[in-house]
Amino acid sequence: MKYISTRSLDDPVSARQMALGTLAGGGGLYIPQSWPTLLAPEIEALRGHSFAAIAGRILAPFLLDDHLTDQDLAFLLDQTFGPTQKIFNVPGIAPLVPLSESMSLLELFHGPTLAFKDIALQFLARLIDHYLKNKDNRPVTFLGATSGDTGSAAIHACAGVKNANIFILHPAKNISEIQRRQMTTFPSSRVFNIAIEGTFDDCQALVKTLLSDSSLAGRLGFIPINSINFIRILVQSVYYFTAALALPASSLPPSFVVPTGNFGNVFAGYVARQMGLKIGRLVVATNHNDILYRFFKTGEMAIDRVIPSYSPSMDIQVSSNFERFLFDLTGRDPRIVSHLMDGFKQRGNFRVTTADHIKAGSVFATGRASNSQTVSTIKSIYDETGLVIDPHTAVGLHVARELADASSLPPGPIIALACAHPSKFPDTIHKALSFSPPLPESLRPILTLPERITPIRNDLGIVKNYISGIVGA
Ligand SMILES: *Cc1c(COP(=O)(O)O)cnc(C)c1O
Repeated sequence: MKYISTRSLDDPVSARQMALGTLAGGGGLYIPQSWPTLLAPEIEALRGHSFAAIAGRILAPFLLDDHLTDQDLAFLLDQTFGPTQKIFNVPGIAPLVPLSESMSLLELFHGPTLAFKDIALQFLARLIDHYLKNKDNRPVTFLGATSGDTGSAAIHACAGVKNANIFILHPAKNISEIQRRQMTTFPSSRVFNIAIEGTFDDCQALVKTLLSDSSLAGRLGFIPINSINFIRILVQSVYYFTAALALPASSLPPSFVVPTGNFGNVFAGYVARQMGLKIGRLVVATNHNDILYRFFKTGEMAIDRVIPSYSPSMDIQVSSNFERFLFDLTGRDPRIVSHLMDGFKQRGNFRVTTADHIKAGSVFATGRASNSQTVSTIKSIYDETGLVIDPHTAVGLHVARELADASSLPPGPIIALACAHPSKFPDTIHKALSFSPPLPESLRPILTLPERITPIRNDLGIVKNYISGIVGA
């Protein structure tokens, strides 16, 4: 498979160039030249297979070429997801847990940092290591912005890559203490945590600007660990397949409810659908930072201020992956995407045509949850099932129940994505339940280890000098 830019007609690049590259031409994002498809019987034949085996089938058409053989891919998947590796603490990687007759939870938090981002980043780091093997001594600089969970998942995954430095920008104020400590206590002198005085959107904008400086990016060997990197999306699409295949063969196509910030996880569901997986609707669930909710309701993307919520990993107004969907929606024409994204940058808004808005509504549905609805959902799920869910998962379940009660989804089972372990958000859980779930044994040391953190103003020049100074290139 070759990869093209959402914003330019530049020549397509290989999977390796895409994975090691930064932004695509014209400041766009990479997207496959076409969507490979599986026939229904081919998907059905995967039933009962392991997560690694299903991943092999899904990833092959996107990744196999001269730089990655079938055997390489199987090896990397076994290193990441094989049951003897014990990177994930359940053999199925992403178990489907029934909540009621029609609703289940897809648990994605069984990796080392207890959020869904481990699943893709553990594979991404191994793939990058493979691509770089026996290559010149090019510096490798992983660079990313985090709203809370990406940072620690990236650090835990990428610290194993030879000679790599890792720079993670996080908003100084708006992440939970546990999330921060998971990053800042990581015992490696090659990990640099930068606390930016600003929001996640500020961090993401700084990272995008650094990545788009191609001479700097080349010199320092930047590799983005955010879902700017299409490999992340690709790996996440696997659990949509494994979840659908965990339902009885006779079941109607499921709808997936996905708590959303950067539109990455839900876009992975879209990739699964484009590949032929039968899905009722993909439900975009937001907190009060509801730019995506408003887009799917009205067809207009209009930026607003970010207001901190109980689900901090979704406190985002600029959802970078939406651009990939926009590319498909508007007929895969990079000129249209460039035009809309320029308008968004300059005026803070754009609108799609009525026909495109209707088309978007045939794939996606949407809902949102306030802070108080988030807390009351944590409480009612606990009262009804004894399960403690994290605030992001609660946003999804609030929306799932609301849409199910209003019969606004096609008939069929509902799968709600459980994105993080509740122990990462003790304060909000305490508000709902008057107790906090204990941190798993593996995480306890972070509470006392020293933190390493560099506060920096929201200033491109200072951030750039800091990183160049350390990488020394
Ligand atoms: C990252 C994250 C999200 C948002 O995912 P996107 O892919 O950015 O939409 C939601 N919940 C949790 C717990 C997360 O870590």
